Amino acid sequence: MQLSHYLKIYPYEEKPGYLLLYSTKKASMVLLKEDTYQAMKKDTLSASDETLLSKLGMIVPDREEEKRSVFGFFDDLNAKNTGLNITVVLNLDCNFSCIYCYEGDMKGKLYMSGSNADLLIDFIKEKFTKDKKSLLVDFYGGEPLLSVGLIKSISQALKLFTESIGASYGFTLITNGSLFKRQTAEELVPLGLKSVKITLDGPAETHNRCRPFKSGAGSFDAIIRNIKETCDLVKIGIGGNYDRNNYEKFPSLLDYLAKEGLTPDKLYVVKFDPVVNRPKGDISPVDYKGGCVSINEPWLLKAEALLRKEILKSGYNTPKLQPIICMVENRDSYVVNFNGVIYKCPAFIGKKGFEAGDLQTGVTDYTFSYKLNIWKNNKCAGCEYLPLCYGGCRYMTFVRDGNIDKPDCKKAYFDASLETLIKQDIKYRLKAGSH
Ligand code: SF4
Ligand code: SF4
Repeated sequence: MQLSHYLKIYPYEEKPGYLLLYSTKKASMVLLKEDTYQAMKKDTLSASDETLLSKLGMIVPDREEEKRSVFGFFDDLNAKNTGLNITVVLNLDCNFSCIYCYEGDMKGKLYMSGSNADLLIDFIKEKFTKDKKSLLVDFYGGEPLLSVGLIKSISQALKLFTESIGASYGFTLITNGSLFKRQTAEELVPLGLKSVKITLDGPAETHNRCRPFKSGAGSFDAIIRNIKETCDLVKIGIGGNYDRNNYEKFPSLLDYLAKEGLTPDKLYVVKFDPVVNRPKGDISPVDYKGGCVSINEPWLLKAEALLRKEILKSGYNTPKLQPIICMVENRDSYVVNFNGVIYKCPAFIGKKGFEAGDLQTGVTDYTFSYKLNIWKNNKCAGCEYLPLCYGGCRYMTFVRDGNIDKPDCKKAYFDASLETLIKQDIKYRLKAGSH
């Protein structure tokens, strides 16, 4: 057996004589005695150790074969995928006026029409080929609940369709939370509502500054009231967008939530992300520059480690370190804008050159416009982070460079932060196996 190409080895001060091994391919980890590690390198492991470490992906029969399988990840996924995932931008209107809004200059009274909703249903039926078993629709905006009538009619039609062929239908909402009342939840859950993601930008004062109602009034209390009213009916996750000036305030939101009874058992996930600046040349109504343009920015490494630690320490769930599957590479994933134009990623809505067809004429070839397989180059092929990265996020490259001609390399980020993030998981969540 050989050492996996996707193996990271870190010191583990808390347990002298042990090393921490992490597989970027399997997202698995193990604490290993240093002499077992030496045996692993020399291929002289005992049979039981070999079985365990092979199961964890730390050793493999053939490194070249392993690399080939990592390279073929999306081909396999696309060949076997039994799910279809459609993000629907129901409108570009909003009752909030967030200071960093990504959709700033695109926003207005722009709503999906009834005829586009009919075309959307036809499009989904056509893409739901015989091999498909589950359909997931993410309703997005603007603010999707300003189009609650369409959410209901589209869901009724899709539920009927999937049930008639023995498949399943579910949908999620990515909402600002201000309109998500108990009655709305009661009406939407029977139609397939599975989870709701609501954004809270830190504690009341910070949130109200970043995410006020259009009138300028704070929205925090209304959102908290709605979460309390609905969290027994549907899974609610909390997202939040921080910047370099306010991230240190975010942990106090966790204390507040717990104090208000929104304890970890009531919220299925909490995750805070940095605000990403708008791409070069984009006009924003507010000239906001507090966000980031790269995941490698030093303040960001500090902020992410701090906020993730605080979330885990407070007992809330946050996503584990795992490969991020970019929607662009997933053949069974599309974004449909309110006007019927199709994209491959919600961040590219309205960006010229990133249209991937429309509901009238169908999907066009986006291989070149979205630079599929951009990570299939020598540098990425030799990189031990490839299974976690696959060339990073095209939108981040677009923000920085105005094009997506090269990968969004996350090597410096992983070098600086992976060890910390894994050790957080061990300390607050996972019990690493030790051997
Ligand atoms: S390009 Fe970036 S934002 Fe868009 S789907 Fe891929 S990873 Fe997500
Ligand atoms: S983009 Fe950078 S970090 Fe990602 S796989 Fe390629 S070399 Fe590695």
